[in-house]
Amino acid sequence: MAEFQPPVREDLRGLAPYGAPQLDVDVRLNVNENPFAPSPELARALGASVTEAAQTLNRYPDRECVELRQALADYLSQESSAECAVESIWVANGSNEVMSHIMAAFGGPGRVALTFPPTYSMYPEYARESFTTLVSVPRTTDFQIDMAASTAAIEDQRPSVVLLASPNNPTGTAVSADDIAALAQATADVGGMLVVDEAYAEFRRPGQPSSVASLADHPNMIVTRTMSKAFAMAGARVGYAAAAPSVIDTLRVVRLPYHLSAVTQSVACTALAFVEELQSNLQLLRDERDRMRRDLESRGFVVADSDANFCFFGRFRDRRRVWEGLVDRGVLIRETGPDQWLRVSVGTPQENARFIEALDEVVVDSDLMSDGDGGST
Ligand SMILES: *Cc1c(COP(=O)(O)O)cnc(C)c1O
Repeated sequence: MAEFQPPVREDLRGLAPYGAPQLDVDVRLNVNENPFAPSPELARALGASVTEAAQTLNRYPDRECVELRQALADYLSQESSAECAVESIWVANGSNEVMSHIMAAFGGPGRVALTFPPTYSMYPEYARESFTTLVSVPRTTDFQIDMAASTAAIEDQRPSVVLLASPNNPTGTAVSADDIAALAQATADVGGMLVVDEAYAEFRRPGQPSSVASLADHPNMIVTRTMSKAFAMAGARVGYAAAAPSVIDTLRVVRLPYHLSAVTQSVACTALAFVEELQSNLQLLRDERDRMRRDLESRGFVVADSDANFCFFGRFRDRRRVWEGLVDRGVLIRETGPDQWLRVSVGTPQENARFIEALDEVVVDSDLMSDGDGGST
């Protein structure tokens, strides 16, 4: 008998699920996680919050996640020095789910989303799943936004959603407040929403403001955040967004009922009460990032500007062999973005040292490197 062929949607046939390889090696620097696990004290508190939630698991959770949204509003108000109210906050299972709500609400058949590659590899998937046409305006050679081309494309394509990651993944580059304001205005002029994906906001260098601070000036802007990176809670799956209350109300329409479990809500509230512990390693990670950059540059690599917890470096003639050589030495990084580049997350000082050591061993072989002057492709 022939193998069963499920009646899958035409546009999904033959596609593989998204995701970086999850290999069991010593040094995992491939998905921009925070390398520091919760302290025993925080782990106990998280356990207690699960126990508490467990006592009422026969009931559905708070559909509106009010306590958690309030805690996130308080955190954002303090982090960005802007007033954030609970009605301006949305929360879901990772900022990936927040983004799928945004696309469900503001994208859709016959509509256009615009993005700036190289950028987050999930954006094409969000567009596909919401039947939104994706249009790209490539970044400049140093991974900045090409403002002239972008504003022209916005006028021309009239996107209902513009997706801008800042700091960007996989490059690490942040977009200036002036450019973000100009993009918000250009998008408003065609009736669209500007989504600023700030998954890495807490790692930004001094002087880089968060777009949360300018939400009041741009009612068509949504800023998304996550607890997966700086907050060291990737396993809990909590992402959130800040926007005008009318925007948040629209997201409430498209979410599935009870989308965020009582366990997740409880754990996230507890984690937020430990914000000082969770963020105590931020400065160390920022310093390690800057050190990693210098270590890579002193070896002749080109490294993109990074306001995130990773470095994007190159340029390789054969990055696959470099990636494999590192895996053979117990170090997992990420093969993503333009061909000649690799991305490495910032780990603990020990992990970062292991990475540099392994890289030195792998790249003694200079035919892995591309010729040329070190400019980007
Ligand atoms: C990691 C990341 C996210 C966060 O995803 P979660 O679903 O919150 O874990 C969002 N956007 C970008 C650009 C990222 O790199």
